[in-house]
Amino acid sequence: MVRGRFAPTPSGLLHLGNAAAALLAWLHIRAQDGQFVLRIEDIDGPRSKPEFAERIPEDLRWLGLDWEEGPDTGGPYGPYIQSRRLEIYAEVLEMLKRMGHTYPCYCSRAELTAIASAPHGLASEGPAYPGICRKASKEELAEKASRKTPSIRFEIPEEPLVFVDEAVGVQHVPAGAGGDFIVKRADGFLAYQLAVVADDAAMDITHVLRGYDLLDSTPRQIWLYEALGWQVPRFAHVPLLLGPDGSRLAKRHGGITLADMRQRQIRPETVIGLIAHAYGLLDRFEPVAAKDLIPLFSLDALPKEAVRLAEEDLAAV
Ligand code: GLU
Repeated sequence: MVRGRFAPTPSGLLHLGNAAAALLAWLHIRAQDGQFVLRIEDIDGPRSKPEFAERIPEDLRWLGLDWEEGPDTGGPYGPYIQSRRLEIYAEVLEMLKRMGHTYPCYCSRAELTAIASAPHGLASEGPAYPGICRKASKEELAEKASRKTPSIRFEIPEEPLVFVDEAVGVQHVPAGAGGDFIVKRADGFLAYQLAVVADDAAMDITHVLRGYDLLDSTPRQIWLYEALGWQVPRFAHVPLLLGPDGSRLAKRHGGITLADMRQRQIRPETVIGLIAHAYGLLDRFEPVAAKDLIPLFSLDALPKEAVRLAEEDLAAV
């Protein structure tokens, strides 16, 4: 059974960029007669707000998207709200620990920024963690442990990684890319990478389609799957939606949340038509229902580069 998901972080109201990611993920699954899951990823502390989380199902339904499981529909594991699933992530972390894939790390952010930047191959972050606490002696670690609560790092494999992304093609990840990464922070927060892998596996997700900005996370997620001996899903990272100024679509572009559009009495078909046209699923911009795009969807039809909206596109919604 093909299963996919949309997994937003409720750090703001859904906007056109999120709607594009949701629509494409949904079409990808519906075009294969698969099941779709909605998961609210609200475990990154102060960024997530319940008032945004509450709006998500409503905004998606307004767009004409649906899902088998998730907030307010239930399902075998649902509703899927990460903050209610912390025990599952803690169990997975225990598994990793037992298997010897993790180690405690006492390095502070300040200490790490002081280390000269090393090549890392994962663009979205600072220098790769050089493995200080992995290499430390028992005595050094015991001394550090007496002073501080550690974070927990996952020890990445030594080999380079090659994987196929179904939207952007073969990815070559150099050995050591990003360095050993944090799966649990010293303040107790579990890392996105761990929660996402635990959830995608528990929910039997076979196809992950998400924005290109998350491509950098994929090697880490694959390493976690492999360490746990779990089946790796297929990945497709789709181009992001940019504003007319060429920067990633965001609040500053003004009036782009679905809530704004609803208030302006824009029809959902107009929003869907705009996204479908921008991503090459329609030759011209015309209103369309999400479900009418299902037969038109193919990953190959999607653009390879980020999609830049014009001023007149934004004026239409
Ligand atoms: N929650 C993540 C975000 O909103 C996306 C997670 C994913 O699709 O893997 O950026």
